[in-house]
Amino acid sequence: MPETYDVIVSGIGAMGGAACYHLARRNLRVLGIEQYKIDHDQGSSHGRSRVIRKAYFEDPRYVPLLHRTYEMWRELEKATDLRLLHLNGCLNLGPPDHECIQGAKQSAEEHGLPHEVLNGDEIKRRWPAFKPNESDIGIYEPDGGFLVPEQCVKLHVDLACNHGADIRTEERVLKWSAKPDGVRVETDKDDYAAKHLVITSGAWLGNVVSEMTSLLCIERQVQLWFEPNVHEHCTAKRMPVFIHFTGDRAFYGIPMLGDEGIKIGEHHCGHITTADGINRQITDEDEANVRAYLSRHMPDANGLLRDAEVCMYTNTPDDHFIVDRHPRHDNVLIAGGFSGHGFKFSPVVGQALSDLILDNATEQAIDLFSMNRTGLGQ
Ligand SMILES: Cc1cc2nc3c(=O)[nH]c(=O)nc-3n(C[C@H](O)[C@H](O)[C@H](O)COP(=O)(O)OP(=O)(O)OC[C@H]3O[C@@H](n4cnc5c(N)ncnc54)[C@H](O)[C@@H]3O)c2cc1C
Repeated sequence: MPETYDVIVSGIGAMGGAACYHLARRNLRVLGIEQYKIDHDQGSSHGRSRVIRKAYFEDPRYVPLLHRTYEMWRELEKATDLRLLHLNGCLNLGPPDHECIQGAKQSAEEHGLPHEVLNGDEIKRRWPAFKPNESDIGIYEPDGGFLVPEQCVKLHVDLACNHGADIRTEERVLKWSAKPDGVRVETDKDDYAAKHLVITSGAWLGNVVSEMTSLLCIERQVQLWFEPNVHEHCTAKRMPVFIHFTGDRAFYGIPMLGDEGIKIGEHHCGHITTADGINRQITDEDEANVRAYLSRHMPDANGLLRDAEVCMYTNTPDDHFIVDRHPRHDNVLIAGGFSGHGFKFSPVVGQALSDLILDNATEQAIDLFSMNRTGLGQ
């Protein structure tokens, strides 16, 4: 089969879309293959908002990448005249000795990020929607906020197409093989050949790379939108995005956008499932779980349920990402396992993948995401 492409990208969601853009803008012949339409609601990149923040409680080593990703979102805004970053602040709320509160503080202090440490009274005075626990403090980061994932994915794909990428939708990758001089990909519609393969298939990664099945854990997540009882307390002007660590649980929220209601979810609480077997129905338990939180901590937001959507996390054992070469094939790259916090990094992941293909190395700080640490490395 003649080789028509330099790179095939399998899975065009957040990371695949960004990879196609960065590869195509550097003049490679790119084919992107997506099993659904672009901007679908079956994977991990739908739900009208994704938090972006720099005081990273997960690990301060993410902060240099966060600086770069903010820069890249701003470059995209400049190039397109679109508003992508909605920076209404981010509040990390919880007990002072909680590891995530300490982690957010550590990232902010180590990297000199603008932030304030607030007590419960100050939090209630500034943002009346919140009713924190007595001993809670807040790490408030004015540079935090949110992105609209559907807009961002579509933008990366549109820009990739403008640079000549060939994006095929409603086509499923069934099999692939790799030799040192090239890769072959078989879909339910055709066969293709290229020099390199990039696999960004999100929650389906284990189906496409069998070595990774046992490593990854697919978690069902529900995002719910409520009609606030007190609208003026729940708009982006009157409250930041937040994550509240309470007991051993964590709830997050994004203020009302237009007339959509306030969005609330619980981080890492879902049933373990598979991408094809997941229950996509919203259950009474899904709603009751979040209502119990709202009635105690955000009564002003605890109105009618307006909408709800099921989504998936693809967790690694240490909750850090995997962005690296395939354990056995140098010309196959993998970006996956984004463990419920990857969206904000999609531009920088797209750039790192294109650097690895074109320059054999990247300046982006992706050491933390090596395949080696998983025991699957080369
Ligand atoms: C409820 C929820 C809230 C979140 N909140 C945040 C947040 O606030 N901030 C943040 O930064 N991150 C957040 N995340 C995480 C973030 O959204 C994900 O890490 C990110 O979207 C993952 O992108 P992806 O490209 O890996 O997956 P996806 O965007 O799902 O893309 C994978 C694509 O591959 C396609 N595909 C799979 N298999 C095949 C195949 N065989 N053939 C063709 N196509 C295939 C799929 O259809 C899909 O389109 C959240 C996630 C969820 C679910």
